[in-house]
Amino acid sequence: MNDTSHPALIGALTTTAPKTYNFSPGPTSLPQSVEERIAQSFQTGKLTSLALSHRSPEFVKILSTTKAKIRDVMSVPDNYEILFTHGGGHGQFAAVPLNLCTSSDDVATYVINGTWSERGRDEAKRYCTVNTIDAKGENGQYTTFPALDEANIDSRSKFIYLCSNETVNGIELYRLPNLPESLRHIPLVVDASSDFSTKPIDWEGANVGILFACASKNIGHPGATVTIVRKDLMGQASPLCPGVFHYKTNAQSDNLWNTPATFNIEVIGWVMDWLIEQGGVEACEQRSKAKAQCLYDIIDSVPEVYQTPVEPKSLRSRMNVPFSVMNGDQKKTDSFLIEAWEAGIVGLRTLTPFGVGEYLRASLYNGVSLAQANVLASFMKDFAARQK
Ligand SMILES: *Cc1c(COP(=O)(O)O)cnc(C)c1O
Repeated sequence: MNDTSHPALIGALTTTAPKTYNFSPGPTSLPQSVEERIAQSFQTGKLTSLALSHRSPEFVKILSTTKAKIRDVMSVPDNYEILFTHGGGHGQFAAVPLNLCTSSDDVATYVINGTWSERGRDEAKRYCTVNTIDAKGENGQYTTFPALDEANIDSRSKFIYLCSNETVNGIELYRLPNLPESLRHIPLVVDASSDFSTKPIDWEGANVGILFACASKNIGHPGATVTIVRKDLMGQASPLCPGVFHYKTNAQSDNLWNTPATFNIEVIGWVMDWLIEQGGVEACEQRSKAKAQCLYDIIDSVPEVYQTPVEPKSLRSRMNVPFSVMNGDQKKTDSFLIEAWEAGIVGLRTLTPFGVGEYLRASLYNGVSLAQANVLASFMKDFAARQK
């Protein structure tokens, strides 16, 4: 039965089912009405931002209104600059230390609780002196987030880096941590690549210095990254910081130092419009909660069939739900994937730079509606019933 060459087992996303439910970890589907707006933009007979010069008045307007929409949706205070940067999340792994550390002797603290913070740390090691707070458990897995205090944070740190949603491990901070008063002089750097726009951010309360999000999870397509920088942190960059990564250089030239990802930026604006229509970030958080809850409920209700690794429950990601089928039994996992695929449910076998891993994963970004999450939940329920 379980042919290893079945497309479902190698992560193929095109099925024979009439309708597709895309739970991919990114890039992935955008909300349906945004996808329709993209398609319609090509039928107006007007130049789209794919054909507009980035310095034309038309595109300059798209750029500034998109930034204004992000500022509005995410309540970004005026003392923060919003930039569209190149190189995705990985670009920022390098750009952050290059902009905040003048020399490689400067210290930075990295909180490591999953694969993406590990990657950020490894890149930073090339540019600064990295202290790590590592949350890896005795079993070699990341399943939690560590406490942060004077005992583990060097007060000379130029910044404290964390990932607010560990996409692969399924660990999310619903709110950013509040550091003790004695550490409040240290700005927080947040990789929000996979949870940006799905919950409010307390910019000043949490002392956010920099927050970045590659577009391809919740807010758009790969090629554009939203990087939000507190203005007082611009101007201490390493002399080796490349121009395309240099926050001040890009801010001073109104984000037109070189060609930004024009079309992708316009699409981010359309996703922001959609978020506003849908009730803003608070409503988005409620939807995200409900989408995740319907999956965790079925997982918790049949622990003999499904397992999920993250403890405590208050850190379970609403964006990415990792789960195993029959404790990772390969035959059962393969049947699950093939049957899901035949029902049009795709993206659960996640191909990452870290391998396929032992868990399947359902990603529930903005492009996934509550109705779609419920389709997966009922499939999981039926599959579980068939295992009795
Ligand atoms: C996807 C992801 C990245 C990597 O982004 P790229 O755009 O591929 O460089 C970084 N951090 C997190 C948390 C992610 O989910």
